[in-house]
Amino acid sequence: MPIKIIDDCISCGACQAECPNEAIYEGGVDWELKGETHPALCDDHFYVATDKCTECVGFFDEPQCMTVCPTESTVKDESVVMSKEELQARYEALHS
Ligand code: SF4
Ligand code: SF4
Repeated sequence: MPIKIIDDCISCGACQAECPNEAIYEGGVDWELKGETHPALCDDHFYVATDKCTECVGFFDEPQCMTVCPTESTVKDESVVMSKEELQARYEALHS
């Protein structure tokens, strides 16, 4: 499952600096994928561009955003079920 950021986020930015996929954006900032820009998914606090999150598969054993967040605002998005193989394929597509 990709990660999502919940409303407890205090917008400290710590997670953004750690994301190897550049999947974390400040609230209100449009997200980008392969040269295409998409509307911000949240205006109130940092958010994860779900399509760019691999749960850090391809880089690390653990989601880096979850290890640094001081407010435990980065949680697994249970609404998006993805296998490790699917996350690996996403990683390869993102970095091809
Ligand atoms: S789990 Fe990894 S890839 Fe996904 S948002 Fe967090 S740091 Fe980025
Ligand atoms: S580290 Fe946590 S509190 Fe800070 S911006 Fe990320 S989700 Fe929000």
